[in-house]
Amino acid sequence: MNFVEEKILKEARVEDGAVLKVDSFLNHQIDVDFLNQIGKRFKELFEGEKIDKIVTIEASGIAIACICAQYFNVPVVFAKKTESKNLDKETYKSQVYSYTKAKHYNIMISKRYLSEGESILFVDDFLANGMAAVAIKDIIDQAGAKLAGVGIVIEKGFQEGGDELRAKGINLKSLAIIDKMDKDCISFR
Ligand code: 5GP
Repeated sequence: MNFVEEKILKEARVEDGAVLKVDSFLNHQIDVDFLNQIGKRFKELFEGEKIDKIVTIEASGIAIACICAQYFNVPVVFAKKTESKNLDKETYKSQVYSYTKAKHYNIMISKRYLSEGESILFVDDFLANGMAAVAIKDIIDQAGAKLAGVGIVIEKGFQEGGDELRAKGINLKSLAIIDKMDKDCISFR
C-alpha cells in the first residue's frame, strides 16, 4: 500500500453519492508534509518529461500544484472559475460539469499565461468523470501548447474519466485508484 492509499484509509470518509471527503488533509485542512510527498512522487513519475508549467483549477488544486512546482522548478497557473476585474479580458475558456456541485461552470486562463509550444503538467486532487481534465486539455489545445501529463492524487476508478483519458493516449498518473468504496470499505486497484 502506498502513502496516499494509507492516508485515505486513515482519514477519508465516504459520503452519500459516491463522494470521498478528504477535508482533513487535502480539501480544507491541508497536510503540507503529505503534499510534499505528493510533489516528490509526481517529480519521479514525470521524470524525463519536459514540463514548462503546472496548471490546475481553483481552489483545491492550487496547494497541490504549488508544492509540486517546487520540485519541478516551474510556475503554476490556475484556471479561474469566475470572471473578475483581476482577470484579463483575453482568456482561453472551456466548460466543466462539476460532479460534486452538480452544475456547469466555465474555467478560464488568461492568454498571457499559456503560450504556444509550452509543455504542461495538469495536476488535480480528484479524477472522477474526467470533465475537468478534458476542459483543461481543451484550453491547452486552444493555446497551441501540449499536455505532457496529468497527475492526480485520487482517481475514482469506478467512474469512467481515467479510462477515457488513457484511451486517448494521455499520460495519466494517479497516486491512488479507488475501485470500490462505501461507508465501511475502500478498495484500491
Ligand atoms: P471530474 O471532472 O473528473 O468529474 O471531477 C474532478 C473534480 O471533481 C475534482 O477537481 C474534485 O474537485 C471534484 N471531485 C470529484 N469527485 C470527488 C470526490 O469524491 N471527493 C471530492 N472531495 N471531490 C471530488
